[in-house]
Amino acid sequence: MKLPRLSRWLPQDHYSFVATSLLLVALALSSWFISRHWIELRIQNQLQELKLQSTQVAASTLERLQQDRRQTGEIAQSLSSLSSLRLFLKNSRNSAALLADMNQFGTTFDLAGIWLLDRRGKVLAQSTASPSPPDFNRYTDGNRPLSRLIFDPEQQQARIYHATPVTKNGSVTLLICANATPVSLSAYRLELLVTDANGIIVLANNPDWLRHSLGKEPMVTTESEPPPSPLPTRISPLHSEVLLLGSERQPVLLVSYASEDEYYQVHALADAESIYRQTRDKDNLAAIITLAGTGSFWGGLLTILTLKRNRRHGLAMSRANDELLRLNQQLKQQATTDALTQCPNRRAAEALMRYELANLQRYHHPFCIVMIDIDHFKHVNDQHGHDIGDKVLRHFAVTGRKAIRDTDILARIGGEEFLLILPQTQHQQGMQLAQRLLDSIAQTPLYLTDRTIGFTFSGGLTEATPEDDISQLLIRADQCLYQAKETGRCRICCDTALAVTSAAAG
Ligand code: GH3
Ligand code: MG
Ligand code: MG
Repeated sequence: MKLPRLSRWLPQDHYSFVATSLLLVALALSSWFISRHWIELRIQNQLQELKLQSTQVAASTLERLQQDRRQTGEIAQSLSSLSSLRLFLKNSRNSAALLADMNQFGTTFDLAGIWLLDRRGKVLAQSTASPSPPDFNRYTDGNRPLSRLIFDPEQQQARIYHATPVTKNGSVTLLICANATPVSLSAYRLELLVTDANGIIVLANNPDWLRHSLGKEPMVTTESEPPPSPLPTRISPLHSEVLLLGSERQPVLLVSYASEDEYYQVHALADAESIYRQTRDKDNLAAIITLAGTGSFWGGLLTILTLKRNRRHGLAMSRANDELLRLNQQLKQQATTDALTQCPNRRAAEALMRYELANLQRYHHPFCIVMIDIDHFKHVNDQHGHDIGDKVLRHFAVTGRKAIRDTDILARIGGEEFLLILPQTQHQQGMQLAQRLLDSIAQTPLYLTDRTIGFTFSGGLTEATPEDDISQLLIRADQCLYQAKETGRCRICCDTALAVTSAAAG
């Protein structure tokens, strides 16, 4: 099979070559821009989704912290209005009832400490479980209530300190300390940070970030504590909204919310790894999509063209195959048919006799053959010419075929010699049939425009026996024919019956 010539599909002249190249470039460029735009849209969508999720989580955390603060404020309010406290303020020796109340509040509300402080921060009274008194200036603001969220490094716990002045001039302040609800939202693939009013991280999922500063510069530090170091972040050079966090440069998206009084802020750090990766690989992805798109387009086009060509090729092959079969059939027919008379030739006659002999030997089906020779045919040729002789031969074949049965075969085995094969026939019926043929030929001369040519034939009939082979059979029939010629022609001789003469030939 010939391979399809690729050059056929290529542009054939300069103009179509330039046009095809321009089309290819235009397709590649547009595909490049569309895919880049599409990737950018995807990144923006993911960013929006992440922001939304971060906002929801940060807002709910903020809400919870405010709830903690409100509760702490309410506890402080209840404590400050206790009668035992009023009594203590009037007479500081009356501390037993106050201490009992303080201890009861501390246990009931799981408070970390309750202190009653004077203007200079001296402890006037405190609950039994309270730790050492806190830095007064840091947690109170004169005669105004104040609440602060602080990380306690000793307890590893964020705490809400709430100070309430209990005298009108602010000389005595009630300070209580409650534990903040722990923050645990790792299921969101988010990291939550809460910074206090000084911008120091006081609550975090990751303990490494605690006591670092985030955002604005920290304002207050005490002599005893080291100054907080800023959280190691830097803005990504690829995407202005993405931050690279820590030494591993983990890409994150930062969303911050401040409480109403701005005492603390909640920050959500969302994992922006996939957005960052897509931003970094945007050009590569666009190149891959462009190559794949352009490649598939041309691949598809070439496939369609090749399929069409193969279909045409297949049709031509099938036509050639049909023609070959027809020629084979013709050759086969030519090999077994005599060209002049269209009768089976000697080869076909022998094959048929072989078949009939096998039938006889196996199933005892009798059959006869009649060797036929046209009488004085040399004379016909001499008198009328060779062409007319051929016409006589054709005329004999046509008339002969009409006279015999469909199952009988008239074959031409030599010049003017024919062989009649009569299957399922014994010599008596064979003789009758041969006689009919003899009469028919004698009564049907060849009519030409200017003359009429009458002719006869002689025949030798023999019935096959199971011991026969083809040559024996032919020899016997030939001997009978010889006998017919010898005894005057225009007759059929049989090796088992008497010779019969044509009534017409009389
Ligand atoms: P007989 O009665 O003894 O058979 O006489 P005959 O003339 O038929 O005898 P012979 O066998 O000598 O002659 C046969 C002649 O047939 C010789 C040959 O020229 C002629 N012949 C053989 N084949 C053809 C053919 O195909 N066409 C023509 N026109 N003549 C043929
Ligand atoms: Mg002859
Ligand atoms: Mg003859």
